[in-house]
Amino acid sequence: MKNSFSHALPNKEGYFGEYGGSFIPPELQAVMDEITQTYLEIREQPEFQAELAELYKHYVGRPSPIFHAKNLSERFGADIYLKREDLNHTGAHKINHCLGEALLAKKLGKKKLIAETGAGQHGVALATAAALVGLECDIYMGEVDIAKEHPNVVRMAILGANVIPATHGRKTLKEAVDSAFEAYLKDPISQIYCIGSVVGPHPFPMMVRDFQSIIGNEAKLQFQEMTHGAPDNIIACVGGGSNAIGIFTAFLDDDAVNLYGVEPTGRNVEEDGEHAATMLKGSPGTMHGFHSYMLQDDAGEPAQVYSVASGLDYPSVGPQHSYLKDTDRVTYEGISDDEAIQAFFDLSRLEGIIPAIESAHAVAYACKLAKAKPGSSILVNLSGRGDKDIDFVVEKYGQQYGINDLA
Ligand SMILES: *Cc1c(COP(=O)(O)O)cnc(C)c1O
Repeated sequence: MKNSFSHALPNKEGYFGEYGGSFIPPELQAVMDEITQTYLEIREQPEFQAELAELYKHYVGRPSPIFHAKNLSERFGADIYLKREDLNHTGAHKINHCLGEALLAKKLGKKKLIAETGAGQHGVALATAAALVGLECDIYMGEVDIAKEHPNVVRMAILGANVIPATHGRKTLKEAVDSAFEAYLKDPISQIYCIGSVVGPHPFPMMVRDFQSIIGNEAKLQFQEMTHGAPDNIIACVGGGSNAIGIFTAFLDDDAVNLYGVEPTGRNVEEDGEHAATMLKGSPGTMHGFHSYMLQDDAGEPAQVYSVASGLDYPSVGPQHSYLKDTDRVTYEGISDDEAIQAFFDLSRLEGIIPAIESAHAVAYACKLAKAKPGSSILVNLSGRGDKDIDFVVEKYGQQYGINDLA
């Protein structure tokens, strides 16, 4: 299907209420303004829409189905449905915005896509889009993460991307962001920095939301067809917030639909550095080029954060989520590491679907909500599949879940 974009927010300066905006060096602002201008033009063009729709259908495999998880429903007492973003090419929702960004880059005459990656998921999705569209791709990654995430590093290399190690400081995601940003500043003309979620300076929170809104647009029609109504509740996990805003957008104007975003409360939500529950525990501030809720230290620098799901491990959140929190349109809740792992096994063993640990946070909250609202309908955005997580889960939690001696 074609995507129809919501044009309601943000305002011209990229603000969702008080959140968002663009806090970047002046020499970058001109480049960012050009990206905004071109994006606003092409999103109205039928040829661009058709090109993207074609790729979504024949390359990504959209529309992703909605599955009625009857075994899970029976166990927990409400009707639980899954929007199967895990079935997309490359295994998650990220390909939706990476393709959009790559097509835009091509229209802008850019030669190279650059980005940082933590666990490698955004890097793989962007390297995939770069290969398809025919652009160079540099992925900045901490040296420590390169050693830890070997399969994704190999994938990016096979896809033709350059993986560039960040070797300073703690050698993880934060340092990768520094390195990528530094490289971008050196040449913002032939390169474009492809942000991996609904974060960063304007226009990225708007643009990535628009690309991801295909999820909710499809889901609204599919759910109507299956049940002759809208879901009572929709749940998605929130790292930067792109899969959540993607499924929420089509339902924002329907007040009968309760929307829930799930943040990771990690090992201990009461202890700094042991969780990444940005909106539950953070406060408004400015980092990475935009204003939003964030977890910050006493100096206003990004705080150390932690989650068992590396894709949720981010100290800020998309500005539209901050706005949706303050206006009470979306309810934000927390799920711990242990609850997410329980849901990871529940979904695997009851439905034969191994979810990404990120997505398992949304499933875990669905199981809780089902007990609180028996008989209601719940649509979960299953943002990705768990192939990437199986070795880690078995090593760390195998014994606890009856998996022994696989060697
Ligand atoms: C990256 C990722 C997330 C978190 O990113 P959002 O921008 O919050 O959607 C969630 N699920 C999966 C499977 C991911 O790869």
